[in-house]
Amino acid sequence: MAKVVCVLYDDPVDGYPKSYARDDLPKIERYPGGQTLPTPKAIDFQPGTLLGSVSGELGLRKYLESLGHTLVVTSDKDGANSQLERELHDAEIVISQPFWPAYLTAERIAKAPKLKLALTAGIGSDHVDLQAAIDRGVTVAEVTYCNSISVSEHVVMMILGLVRNYIPSYQWVVQGGWNIADCVTRSYDVEGMHVGTVAAGRIGLAVLRRLKPFDMHLHYTDRHRLPAEVEHELGLTWHATREEMYGVCDVVTLNCPLHPETEHMINEETLKLFKRGAYLVNTARGKLCDRDAIGRALENGQLAGYAGDVWFPQPAPKDHPWRTMPHHGMTPHISGTSLSAQARYAAGVREILECWFEGRPIRDEYLIVQGGALAGTGAHSYSKGNATGGSEEAAKFRKAG
Ligand code: NDP
Repeated sequence: MAKVVCVLYDDPVDGYPKSYARDDLPKIERYPGGQTLPTPKAIDFQPGTLLGSVSGELGLRKYLESLGHTLVVTSDKDGANSQLERELHDAEIVISQPFWPAYLTAERIAKAPKLKLALTAGIGSDHVDLQAAIDRGVTVAEVTYCNSISVSEHVVMMILGLVRNYIPSYQWVVQGGWNIADCVTRSYDVEGMHVGTVAAGRIGLAVLRRLKPFDMHLHYTDRHRLPAEVEHELGLTWHATREEMYGVCDVVTLNCPLHPETEHMINEETLKLFKRGAYLVNTARGKLCDRDAIGRALENGQLAGYAGDVWFPQPAPKDHPWRTMPHHGMTPHISGTSLSAQARYAAGVREILECWFEGRPIRDEYLIVQGGALAGTGAHSYSKGNATGGSEEAAKFRKAG
């Protein structure tokens, strides 16, 4: 029987919810493009409830225990004395969410001789040392598409929030002010602006589609070009390189995976290519950007604003400079874990586990690594290697209290 270790974020500070703001979730039939939503044989949770925190357990306990497996759920994931480290020696499956990632470094994989499956309840498996997983024959899978639309909505919100100067204006209200001039000296319309996405995959394309009605000029760069009819329908301008795209954009949004090729692609040098006063929105991965270069660009005005919900490491230490840099609109990593998204990825995790235990193949679109090589979505979108370096810093969050 397998030991399954599931690393989830903490419950709300005032306890696991007893009631919710809304009674149900809208029914989504299919993802754009036709991929079906997760198809587990059954689920043991109520969609719309909090599943991603420790007490939510992704709705997995009944199912796993009915098969005789052991489920350990913890949020204690960082540092040598963490519960995750203590559980690794006999864990067969580690489930984790990118929002509160169980960094599976090569050292940790070595401490987990029985580990066979690293399962991401969400999208983005860069918290796993993919090279080490390849070398050890560990399967890595994620729930492709489960929260891509959720993230695209967050991107649009953040672009509007930054350009229109929403957060500082909200703060004036909370402080009892009516400081219109203070609010609007940094407030613009997005209409007529040029917005460009680095990568037009599921999220990037959904962002472009959502911004089209705002009458913005739409740009993208990607390794593969979109079909001509999509370019035509949305009026897209394609750029062969991201460097070429930066200079024409008022707003840049990053929507590519983190892997060794994309790590720190936004840095001191590439920021010089941006228009002065550009806005940068990054909900993809914190490590796509050089942390300190972002802070400097906001201070010297090269960037007018930066927003996103991804940091490195996660949770971000209390003294992470992105918490206090000027003109930012950061949230903790939440865009892909709305209650709506949780219902989808909890069902996707259940589907993958059912396949795993019943010896059925996992959908190709969910696979990142299998049989000692990149596979499925992983073979298409990732490159070999490791992007977990420096993740041990996440332990600073709890230490700082
Ligand atoms: P997709 O796989 O649909 O899209 C990724 C796109 O990135 C693909 O079009 C791929 O190109 C492109 N790409 C890969 N490498 C490069 C590169 N070097 N330069 C330019 N483009 C590149 O994934 P999603 O859109 O669903 O998700 C994208 C990323 O967003 C995830 O990897 C994850 O890191 C992040 N994410 C964040 C979430 C959050 O909660 N904040 C939740 C979900 C995802 P091609 O296919 O043409 O090779």
